[in-house]
Amino acid sequence: MLHYIGEAIINAVFPSKCHACGILFKPDQHGTIKSINNTIIRDAIFSASEQFSFKSLMTPFLCSTCSHDFLPVESPICSKCGIMFTSREADDHICGECIDSPKNYGKARSSGIYNRVLMQVIHALKYKGLIELASPLGMLLFCTFINHWDPQKIDLIIPVPLHIKRFRQRGFNQAFLLIRKWPLIAKSMGFMLSDTQINRDALVKSRNTGHQTGLDRTDRKKNVKNAFSLHCSGLIKEKRILLIDDVYTTGATIDECARILMRGGAQNVDVLTLAHTMRP
Ligand SMILES: [Zn+2]
Ligand SMILES: [Zn+2]
Repeated sequence: MLHYIGEAIINAVFPSKCHACGILFKPDQHGTIKSINNTIIRDAIFSASEQFSFKSLMTPFLCSTCSHDFLPVESPICSKCGIMFTSREADDHICGECIDSPKNYGKARSSGIYNRVLMQVIHALKYKGLIELASPLGMLLFCTFINHWDPQKIDLIIPVPLHIKRFRQRGFNQAFLLIRKWPLIAKSMGFMLSDTQINRDALVKSRNTGHQTGLDRTDRKKNVKNAFSLHCSGLIKEKRILLIDDVYTTGATIDECARILMRGGAQNVDVLTLAHTMRP
């Protein structure tokens, strides 16, 4: 009882700042970081609903408007690139873009639509260095992972690497931060996933390409061509690989990574990102 009274007083005196829109808000009694316990994580992961997972995991960090603003990626989607179709009527099928420009990866899936709230939390993590967001967002990503893959059928999980210059500026690779705790989460949920399945060394970004923002699909493709290379090609031979990134925009970066990995002898490369843009 005293604990709850204490927490209520703390919340009233020190409201939280929404990590997306910046307003001050009072977290509800289930909304403190301390109260994100194993039950909440288990419910979020086994709910098979990214909307529920996002809300329950992000409550301590977001005001009520922002936590309700998340849009999960739901069928009908492109069975290749995972883009959500605006029409809610059809079955999953391959989109025109994937037919016109065949991909090097097997399939790509994402947790949510890259809308205002997901963009703001990803920017808060990447550009404002609010790395406390990596843990709940990583759990959300894990939820999408087990909804679409059998963890036993993935040999290596590789975060899309940053160029060393960008890495030094930022101090971290957000794609790696999202999956860093996966072996621990998996263990507590009864899945097998070892630390060695997460690999940051096999693939490197050998050319600094600068920002992709503002470039169209063709220019993005040109910009990332041959920007990645294999550091350790023996590691990926015959392996079933899952590539991780924060946002799928045109897919140019992730597809170039897949091309290099497949050329190096990988058996299959799939893709998982936190957010996926909607095509205009
Ligand atoms: Zn907000
Ligand atoms: Zn597609």
